[in-house]
Order: sequence, then C-alpha cells, then structure tokens
Amino acid sequence: MRLFEDSGLCLEDKDKFFIDARAKKDQDIVITHAHSDHAKTTTQNRYFMSKGTSALLKKGKKSEINEIPFKKKFRLGEFSVSLHNAGHILGSSQLKVEGNKTVVFTSDFKLQDSILFKGAEIIPSDILVIESTFGAPQHFFPERDIVYAEMKKWMKEKMKENKFIVLGGYSTGKAQELTRLVNEFLGEAPFVHGKIAEQNSAYEANGVNLGEYRKLNNNLREGNVLIMPPHLIGTSLLAALAHEAGRKVECALATGWNGRGYKTFPLSDHADFNQLMRYVEKSNPKLVLTHHGFASQFARYVKRKLGIEARELGKKGQKTLNEFA
Ligand SMILES: [Zn+2]
Repeated sequence: MRLFEDSGLCLEDKDKFFIDARAKKDQDIVITHAHSDHAKTTTQNRYFMSKGTSALLKKGKKSEINEIPFKKKFRLGEFSVSLHNAGHILGSSQLKVEGNKTVVFTSDFKLQDSILFKGAEIIPSDILVIESTFGAPQHFFPERDIVYAEMKKWMKEKMKENKFIVLGGYSTGKAQELTRLVNEFLGEAPFVHGKIAEQNSAYEANGVNLGEYRKLNNNLREGNVLIMPPHLIGTSLLAALAHEAGRKVECALATGWNGRGYKTFPLSDHADFNQLMRYVEKSNPKLVLTHHGFASQFARYVKRKLGIEARELGKKGQKTLNEFA
C-alpha cells in the first residue's frame, strides 16, 4: 500500500483513490469538506462526499456526486471506506479505510464543540494521516465557551456605546457560527454579505438552526451588526459602512490567525496543538503522517512526546517514504 500527496492525497494498492484532489481524470475522489482548497468538482471524475458538503459546494455541470451518510461503509475499488464527523464545518468528514490496516485521514478538524456542531469523533487507527495546520505549541485556543463569553461582553458594550458592529468570519463555516451567536447574544438579526447568505441557506436546509439574518442591502440604519468575509474588510470599507450606518463602526475578526491589527477573537475551526496531540494519543496509531502547516515540526513533537513513529507525508514519487506493507 502506498500513501502520498498528489494534488491532494492518494491511497494506492492494486486500486487507488484520491482525497480532495484536483486536476484528475476518470478517478474516484473523496471530498472531505466544502472549503475551496479541498473541494473542486469537474465532470471528469466520480465524487464521494457527505450530504452537507454537497449542499455547500458549487458543483460543476453534471458532476457525478455520490452523497454518503456518516459511518456508512462503501467501496472504492478494493478499499472499504466510511466518512465520520470532523467537527470543522457543515458536512466536514474524516475518512476511515479498513483492511489489513486501519488508515484514518482526519482532514481539517477540531475537537471543540461549537454552538452549531459536536467536535470530531476520535477514530482508532493503525496509520493516522493528520492535518497539522496549527501543529506547534504556540498555537493554543481557549475553550470555546470562554471565547463566546468574551464576544458577548464585547458586543453588548459596543451596542451600549451605539456603535455599528462589523464581524469578520470566513463565508463557509465561521460566518454561520457568528450568525447564530449574534442572535443568541444580542437578540438581533445581523446583516450578512450575499455569499454568506447563500451558505447560511445551505446550513438551514441541512437542519442547522442559525436564527434570523438579513442579506446586506442599503438599509444599514435598520440594524446594528454586519457579518462579512474577512478578506473584504479594510479601512475604506469600514469608512463607507460608518457613513451608511450613520455612526461609528467597531470591527472584530473571528479567526485562529493573527487579525491584521483588528480586534480578534480566537474562534478557530481547526484543532490547536493540544487538540492535535490529544487526537493522536487517543487514536493510538503505530504511525502518524502529518501534512499542512507545521508538518515536520508536529511529527517531531509526536515522536518525542508520545513515542509514536511520525513523519511528514511524502509526495508522489518519493518511494521509500510512502510504502506500507
Ligand atoms: Zn477547511
């Protein structure tokens, strides 16, 4: 069996399939979740994903998409595969492949429960392929309830000061959590950017309650909060919004990354270093393969602190790195 990166991930024995891969033709491809760096469909492959992921995706015309419920086994060639909750965004999936060895691919995940979802299931494995976006100890996220409490306090204060509040969060995942939080904390239906409104509808169609919201229009004076994708937030936009709302604007971003000088709440949809270590420890694999972010650094920590063999996942063509009996 071979396992390597190839415009996504690939598991190959007599048969093979890909995970979150692009630029392929006539292949079986599992899409773990709807973030654009993982999901792109064309008419040239067969795709397998959860119903939630399918609902959030912009699909290519006539793409062949098979929706698979969590925990249901299905076959990809010789492999027996199942999808499991990753707690990252709507429909986000880990992959379990069962055979001589159990191989688990976490893809993007978090262990924290959020106001919308349960955290990821920890799956026992022989080989664990784990994302290591925040795989260094300086990446520490407080408990979500603590961050929620801080956000509530901040929003209520700003409302009292008669400020117009702008919150930044990724259109797919974070913005839906913010929509619900604004409803819970302020009893208010926030304005949301058009792309966010679209993704909000997909969440609702899949049974996730977000509360109320309004698509962004020119009536900012009728509300107090706007949720925007963070890449659109900048000085000129905030000045325009202040003009439109007729009062001062306060802005905060919800992200695990540094907030570009804006007020930041560390609300991440990824596992921090401690959650990554906890996943490895409880999954109890014989071998850990890391990819994304701090891959080699995290592998060294796993080896040193947990005594489990670990290394960065190899790329296509690096034979010795990727062969498993
Ligand atoms: Zn993601």
